[in-house]
Amino acid sequence: IREQALSQANEDAYTADGKRVQVLANIGSPADVDAALQNGAEGVGLFRTEFLYLENDHWPTEEEQYQAYRKVLEAFADKPVVIRTLDIGGDKDLPYAKLPKEENPFLGHRAIRFCLANPDIFKTQLRALLRAGVHGDLWVMFPMVENLSEVRQAKSLLSECRQELELAGIEVAASIQIGIMIEVPAAAVNADQLAKEVDFMSIGTNDLTQYTLAADRGNELVAHLYDAAHPAVLRLVKKTCDAAHEAGIIAGMCGELAGDPKMTEILVGLGLHELSMSAGAIPEVKVSVRQVSSNEAHQLADEVLLAEDGDQVRAIAEKTNS
Ligand code: PEP
Ligand code: MG
Repeated sequence: IREQALSQANEDAYTADGKRVQVLANIGSPADVDAALQNGAEGVGLFRTEFLYLENDHWPTEEEQYQAYRKVLEAFADKPVVIRTLDIGGDKDLPYAKLPKEENPFLGHRAIRFCLANPDIFKTQLRALLRAGVHGDLWVMFPMVENLSEVRQAKSLLSECRQELELAGIEVAASIQIGIMIEVPAAAVNADQLAKEVDFMSIGTNDLTQYTLAADRGNELVAHLYDAAHPAVLRLVKKTCDAAHEAGIIAGMCGELAGDPKMTEILVGLGLHELSMSAGAIPEVKVSVRQVSSNEAHQLADEVLLAEDGDQVRAIAEKTNS
């Protein structure tokens, strides 16, 4: 089965009734590009940029970042590359940043919160992104967004960087797509408001699950509660997809759930047409996409939204996959 999946990995994935579902790769550095392309990635749905910061002993310079982003954009040529801005804090520490200890780091000063509070660090990354965007199809994504004000501030810093670069005569991307991750329950609940101010949204089920179920994603004591297939999480996924469709923008998913081939039909039924995952999962998810019928997928989605827990959701998924 694996061989069959691999043989068709490089072809685009359409459902049995002809709907395109884009299958993209999550990458953590330019070193992951080859595996992504070999497994049939139709672009990058999540480029985690933390490696630049974690592997260094200093804040990465604009030039260092520019080179890394450019490499990935060039490798994917005209295919979309979603680059996520720095998601530091939470469980990810940076020795040279001397971040203060927090009692509840996952509920604290992480990701977009940290970046907006440190505009110099943030603007270095935004400048590098704008310059690299000249070399491909760049989509910039902000993590951990919780409210509209954060979106507006981030977009305004991006415009500021664009103006500054243009004034200095430095070439910048003519147009880029600007989006946010939906990984905080508040953002999913208010997705209709957020959708009006961005070009795309991508659901991060890893964090969305831990925040929705109040179960730390890395704590073994509550691992039995941590379940991305919990109907409460899926209801938030549905809400986000509906808001995106209403606003006429794309809703994708880049959390681990997107890479589970048993969940593909349910996810398509919930309204997702863009799934991003680790490279190895791409061939089999494409096989699953090709078996989906949209009508049945929608019925299935309605069914799982009424399930009582994740086990019931998986039992429903299992039934249709057998
Ligand atoms: C997520 O939260 O689902 C996500 C994709 O981001 P990360 O795993 O990097 O927090
Ligand atoms: Mg996350």
